[in-house]
Amino acid sequence: QANEKESMYLVSEFAQKYFHNTLLNADEGRAIGYSYFKERGFTGDTIKKFGLGYSPEEWDAFTKEGLGKGYKLEYLEKTGLTIVREDGRHVDRFRGRVMFPIQSMSGRVLGFGGRILTNDKKAAKYLNSPESDIYHKSKVLYGIYHAKQAIAKQDNCFLVEGYTDVIQFHQAGIENTVSSSGTALTPDQIRLISRLTKNITVLFDGDAAGLRASIRGIDLILEEGMNVKVCAFPDGEDPDSFAKKTPYDELVAYLANNAKDFIQFKASLLMDDAKNDPVKKAGLIRDMVTSISKIPDRIQREIYTQECARIMDISEQVLSSELAQLIQKDV
Ligand code: ATP
Ligand code: MN
Ligand code: MN
Ligand code: MN
Repeated sequence: QANEKESMYLVSEFAQKYFHNTLLNADEGRAIGYSYFKERGFTGDTIKKFGLGYSPEEWDAFTKEGLGKGYKLEYLEKTGLTIVREDGRHVDRFRGRVMFPIQSMSGRVLGFGGRILTNDKKAAKYLNSPESDIYHKSKVLYGIYHAKQAIAKQDNCFLVEGYTDVIQFHQAGIENTVSSSGTALTPDQIRLISRLTKNITVLFDGDAAGLRASIRGIDLILEEGMNVKVCAFPDGEDPDSFAKKTPYDELVAYLANNAKDFIQFKASLLMDDAKNDPVKKAGLIRDMVTSISKIPDRIQREIYTQECARIMDISEQVLSSELAQLIQKDV
């Protein structure tokens, strides 16, 4: 069992080297993959640091290379890198994609995300490795290996949505950044961060999906007993596109000035709509109290209750009794 996992790690490491080498040295990889990353503004150093790669369009280029080097089909298949079709043919899972290796906290390659190079709306933009004995999507954070020191040092973790957001932030010099790439945020991912810091700042895309994901993320983070802030981006921007066009000092200032605690964030998001509508306002207050009720620490609950009362202009007593009921129901 342990040997089996080790064999899967070795196959994944080989694949990372193969895709990376193809990106840097093969004609197809250089012409298509490398120039794609360059166009996105990634430097050669960044491409090397994150071990980015390219998978050729040919049906089985990677599998042939792996088998030729003596890697067993069993492990090529178990990592999902090779698919054995019903007719017995071996084909590569990733073809004609730029490749993002996903590393564990200790730097081992667990799996890959692969992006198509076109903006074809019909094809799935990203394809990920399947779950396997070494790759558990819900327990992995993209970028954690390169971010862990900075997260501990800054005592804060920026949480973004995608691979390219992480990479662009690191390149900009903001290295305490990770993403839950490919899944909705999970409790296990939050616990991974909580080993390094108790503070998370959620930086999701400036679109409807990003907002929804931020709101879901808030309660999960609070439930783990961590502090959460949220910083929204202008409509249509994500951390990648925003960081790419913003000088470092401005970027840092933007993050500092726009990071709000969850009460302020929800208020700013929903207050315009609710201000003159008592029913909507009551709904917003209930929503805030529900988030507060997730916080394990009683003193923190008290502090956020005070803030909610002040911002929503409602008595603290009413909020406290509402809160008490919610907490009763939970136990
Ligand atoms: P890009 O900037 O390359 O277009 P993005 O990271 O901004 O990509 P989003 O559409 O904002 O992409 O999605 C955020 C993240 O969600 C992606 O980085 C990827 O991890 C994941 N994702 C997006 N689309 C898919 C998909 N079709 N299948 C699996 N995961 C996906
Ligand atoms: Mn998005
Ligand atoms: Mn995005
Ligand atoms: Mn993007």
